[in-house]
Amino acid sequence: MSKESMPLLGATEIRRLADELGIRPTKTLGQNFVIDGNTIRRIVAAANVSPEETVLEIGPGLGSLTLGIMDAAAKVVAVEIDPPLAKRLPQTMAEFRPGRENDLTVILSDAMKVTELPGEPTALVANLPYNVAVPVVLHLLEHFPSIRHGLVMVQDEVADRMSAGPGSKIYGVPSVKGAWYGTMRKAGVIGMNVFWPAPKIQSGLVGFTRDTDRSDAPDRKQVFAIIDAAFAQRRKTLRAALSGWAGSGIRAEQILTLAGIDPKERGEKLDIDAYIAIARAAEQVPAEPKPES
Ligand code: SAM
Repeated sequence: MSKESMPLLGATEIRRLADELGIRPTKTLGQNFVIDGNTIRRIVAAANVSPEETVLEIGPGLGSLTLGIMDAAAKVVAVEIDPPLAKRLPQTMAEFRPGRENDLTVILSDAMKVTELPGEPTALVANLPYNVAVPVVLHLLEHFPSIRHGLVMVQDEVADRMSAGPGSKIYGVPSVKGAWYGTMRKAGVIGMNVFWPAPKIQSGLVGFTRDTDRSDAPDRKQVFAIIDAAFAQRRKTLRAALSGWAGSGIRAEQILTLAGIDPKERGEKLDIDAYIAIARAAEQVPAEPKPES
C-alpha cells in the first residue's frame, strides 16, 4: 500500500475511539484531536522526517498524528499524560498499522517531567497542548540534544511569536530562547474545523532546525536570566530593565557598554547573539560588593 493510501483517523474513527474509552476531550489538557487525514499528511510532509529517524511525539492523544508519523519514520516515541489515551495507543497502532506495533514506544508522563527517553529521537513532531506549548518545546530542546529538527502545531499567535525576529511587536521570550537552540520558522496555518472538538482559534505550524553550536557560549541559564529580565520590563531601557539582574544600574550600564550595546536600547531590539554578548561581558565586570548589614 502506498503511504498516501494508508488509513488515517477521520471523524468517525475518532468518535468511535473516544466512545469506546468513554472519554470527553478536556480543555485543561488541550485535547483537540485532528480528524482530517489531509492535515496529518500536510504536517508530516512539512516535518521533513527521513525514514531512518526516531521521532518524538508529545501528546499523541487518540493517535491521529502518530499513524502519519509512523508512515514516514522508523520509530515513534510518544509521551502522553492522559492514562486511557496512553493505554489505548498501542492497540490503535496494531489495528491501523499491523506489523509496526514494535516501532512504537508509549510513555505515560507529563512531557515537562521527561528527562530520559529511549532510542535517541532525532526529530520532534507534535500537535501540542496549547497551554504548555512553549515550555514543552524549550524543555525538550534543553534535555534532548539528539533532537535536531522538528515541527510543532501550536496556537497561530504562538507560532508567530516563536518565529518572530527582533524589533517586531510579537518578538518576546519564546522567540529569543527558541533562537538559542536554532532557527524557528512559521510553516503554515491550520483552520479550526480539522479538529474535534474545534478550537476557537486557528493553529500555526512552526518548523525548527538545531543549527547553532553553543558550546563556546556562556552558561545557558545566565543568558536566559538576562532575557527574562529584559522582557519583564520590555518598555524600559536595558539599563533599567537589567539593573536588578546586574545588581545596580551602573553595573548594568558597564556590562552593556562592554558588550557593545547602547544602554538606552530596549530588549525587544536584541537578537540572541546580543544576549550572549551581554552574558559574556558580565563575566568581566565584577559584581559590586554587597553593603554590610
Ligand atoms: N496528537 C493528537 C492529535 O493531533 O489529534 C492530540 C493532540 S491534543 C492537541 C494534545 C494532547 O496532549 C492530548 O492528547 C493531551 O492529553 C496531551 N497532553 C496534554 N498535556 C500534556 C503534557 N503535559 N504532557 C504530555 N501530553 C500532554
